Amino acid sequence: MKSPEQTRTERERMIEESIARRGITDTRLLDAFRAVPREVFVAPNLASAAYEDRPLGIGRGQTISQPYIVAATIEALALTGTERVLDVGTGSGYAAAILAKVAREVHSIERIEELAQAAETRLVSIGASNVHVHVGDGTLGLPDHAPFDAIAVAASGPVIPQALIDQLAIGGRLVMPVTSPEGVGQVLVRVHRVAEHAYEKEELGEVQFVPLLGAQGHRPGETAVVTAPRLARPGSFASAARIVREASEPLDDIDSASIAPLVERIASARIVMLGESTHGTSEFYRLRARITRELVTRHGFDFVAVEGDWPDAARVNDYVAHASAPHTRFPFTPFDRFPQWMWRNREVEGFVEWLREHNARSKGRGVGFFGLDLYSMYTSIGVVLRYLAEVDPHAAETARERYRRLLPRREDGIERLLPAPRRLAAAEDAVLANLRDLLQKRLEYAQLGPERYFDAAQNARVVASAERYYRAVYRGAAESWNLRDSHMFDTLRILLAHFGASSKAIVWAHNSHVGDARATEMRVRREHNIGQLARQAFGDVVRLVGFGTHHGTVAAADDWDEPMRVKNVRPGHPESYEHVMHEAGISAFVLGLRSPQRAAVREELTPARLFRAIGVVYRPETELASHYLEVVLPEQLDELIWVDETRAVTPLPELAKSELSKLPETYPFGL
Ligand code: SAH
Repeated sequence: MKSPEQTRTERERMIEESIARRGITDTRLLDAFRAVPREVFVAPNLASAAYEDRPLGIGRGQTISQPYIVAATIEALALTGTERVLDVGTGSGYAAAILAKVAREVHSIERIEELAQAAETRLVSIGASNVHVHVGDGTLGLPDHAPFDAIAVAASGPVIPQALIDQLAIGGRLVMPVTSPEGVGQVLVRVHRVAEHAYEKEELGEVQFVPLLGAQGHRPGETAVVTAPRLARPGSFASAARIVREASEPLDDIDSASIAPLVERIASARIVMLGESTHGTSEFYRLRARITRELVTRHGFDFVAVEGDWPDAARVNDYVAHASAPHTRFPFTPFDRFPQWMWRNREVEGFVEWLREHNARSKGRGVGFFGLDLYSMYTSIGVVLRYLAEVDPHAAETARERYRRLLPRREDGIERLLPAPRRLAAAEDAVLANLRDLLQKRLEYAQLGPERYFDAAQNARVVASAERYYRAVYRGAAESWNLRDSHMFDTLRILLAHFGASSKAIVWAHNSHVGDARATEMRVRREHNIGQLARQAFGDVVRLVGFGTHHGTVAAADDWDEPMRVKNVRPGHPESYEHVMHEAGISAFVLGLRSPQRAAVREELTPARLFRAIGVVYRPETELASHYLEVVLPEQLDELIWVDETRAVTPLPELAKSELSKLPETYPFGL
């Protein structure tokens, strides 16, 4: 439990960093955020995450909105304190509580009775006596209480409901997210009723909300599913463990036991994705390398694409391809950014050395190694400019001028590593112009060979995606997550096309990217990932393989940009799949989950349970809130590889900053 003092400090920090610094200046509104305890509005097990600037589950597949979005919505209503406000989508009641502080009277309406009741109880408990909670379809408004001086809608509909427009007082404002016609993006829209029949409409930016369901909203089932998976009852764990024990293929030694049955099941696919439930577990990297070697040597897979940066992986690719003169290229040290250990470790090194030998032995094109990620904006700019300087010096000058807009300036604030969002947005056209120019000159630039051109073009794409990504980071978690996974998936497609119509790909990325997002609570947050996108685009020729562990040690950091440590992994939570697998009592195994052969296993494992995700940061103290997701395992993955007790990866020695510049670049890891 946190002390009241700690909670106040966290709340203050959230207001400063996530709200004020992003440009919300109304002091009455900031004071309202100070006065309302957000921890009261989330489930007790999420209270420790109450001051993170993100939406959190509140049950029934709904979420409490991200604080910044609540602030931006309310600020757009331009309240002075005298207004009567309609709040559509009570949810947790948090937004209503903030509104109650900055308006005279609030009517809040929620379609799910259970949520409305819980919200009402909380609002009473904090003494918000000027809020009235109603149960009903908010797309019809509350005619008995109209007109309203302001209307805030916290769920996204296909159009602004006519009933709400009719119930808006003259001079009043309405703010609501509207779903795009294609059903993908949402835009926050403000309507100002300036006269009886005159409205001014304005778009405030892209957002992510749950759907508005009702007579003048979306129909249930028409948009993505909105109910979270239902958790399995603890009683069902013993029988699940028994069936896992019977159905699994034990691996008594993960480095030598046969993986033939698994390989046989996945080898005919065009895309095999190999996940991991942590970024720092030795066994996961070793097993992925073993499976990959089999797929490459015996089944003709063409390349490995990893959750790492493009230019960094390109350096590895040069190494494994025995490229002749890679050093004429833009100089930098691969994989020297946080988290270094994710790719700079002995396990990956071993695989890279193997791949280099394999390519030396084999005739023909050789197996490639590529990066799917987009965190290399400045390195990618460097690569593009260096390339253009060689093939087209005039174009290089133009490109340099355009990319200059992405450099941070003093006015962005001293602590910024990137330009402020507004200036990023202004750079978008310039960045896209560079990409377009490069793509149009494909034939002209043939002199340095197709591989160099391909690499430069992909770096220009990375810059464009990164610019959008960093801009989205300011707006909300789901949108930036989706941009990143869409970029990774586009990159995979580009690679498949590059290698030809019958090419076959292996992907190494975290379970949270590989496992189909639609089978996890990510769906409720409207997040997608490469596993889902691949299944949707390629169907039956995709195999998603996930990994998991119960306890052991892991390489991870306490926080972003902190040093790597070897941390203890807590035993799996009693309501988790980890618990089921551990109870099966086998130290390591492969479990096929694919229908229809596995009907009994699938049935037993289908009620949703928790599944742990450890990234580069591991916080055992808040594990339940920060690392467990609700998933339906047999829908999420085709295969699960289980290692009950695991060890941390062995990182290569850290590079001192002064050494970075003088390292020879003959070896991908600079060692
Ligand atoms: N403002 C809330 C956000 C809740 S999410 C908070 O701060 O916690 C949006 C809510 O809108 C969900 O609880 C959902 O059940 C509700 N909702 C969706 N369609 C609705 C409708 N037609 N009428 C009323 N509520 C609706």
